[in-house]
Amino acid sequence: MSYVGPGFEPPQPRRSPLRRPVAVALALVVVGGPAGWFVWQAVADDGDGRVMYSGGYEPLSPTLSPDDPADLATTPASSAGPLAGKVVVVDPGHNPGNFQHSADINRKVNIGTNWKECDTTGTATNDGYTEAEFTLDVARRLRTVLEQQGATVKFTQDGDESARPFGPCVDERARIGNAAHADAVVSIHADGSGAGNRGFHVILPGAVHDGAADTRPIVGPSRLLGERVKDGFVRETGSAPSNYIGGGTGLDTRTDLGGLNLSTVPKVFIECGNMRDGKDAALLTSGVWRQKAALGISEGIVSFLRES
Ligand code: ZN
Repeated sequence: MSYVGPGFEPPQPRRSPLRRPVAVALALVVVGGPAGWFVWQAVADDGDGRVMYSGGYEPLSPTLSPDDPADLATTPASSAGPLAGKVVVVDPGHNPGNFQHSADINRKVNIGTNWKECDTTGTATNDGYTEAEFTLDVARRLRTVLEQQGATVKFTQDGDESARPFGPCVDERARIGNAAHADAVVSIHADGSGAGNRGFHVILPGAVHDGAADTRPIVGPSRLLGERVKDGFVRETGSAPSNYIGGGTGLDTRTDLGGLNLSTVPKVFIECGNMRDGKDAALLTSGVWRQKAALGISEGIVSFLRES
């Protein structure tokens, strides 16, 4: 069924935070880590899940050329911060436009081991908050935090209907990370399992050597990335590892995902919770919780990049 959740909004251009109205402001000072890096940010949840930021390392927004999709996907790195010189690709799972492009996303693409759909619509909460909205929101929050620490962040899609009316396909999502020579790639998702199934899990690439897929060089570093992301996610959100996948470890290894099979750079997926469970859905639909999720994922990426 083709539908758009009630909270759907067209993509917003990034603007100077100084021009944004602030409804409720919460100033956080986060000091930590062996390098003594800090993030100072003001967070204001305007009630519909979007968040506003100010302060700290956030660079001024670049001038965007609406006719150049590349400008919307890539942002320049800050010259300072612990992630200066690092490239992180963030892959917001699915795309709000997928609901209107069934034929396009059902086209089969080769993922090395077999052929799979280009992309899927993703799941939604019982109240219609879509996974595609969720993944974009967490991804944008994650981008802000990573840029504050100096990383160059590239998205596989940013909900820009003119640039990416659907997808991209899973094989292209992998290629975007490869072409960027990303130091780390994280694909953001939420699950659609049965009620009562709760918690998050990180999906790691298993060893695959078939057709265009050869994950053997990335299995080890991806596991380290996944473990660090898991640790950061637990620390910031307090969420428990999945009670239905991964045997309580919060980690699951798969060889059937094109986005992992075709990656040549360290990459993991994170399923942040189960949208079909009422208690998990209450978290996933909270802007405050999504900010914690983004912070946790960013901490995992920072830890991984320090060690690798
Ligand atoms: Zn998904």
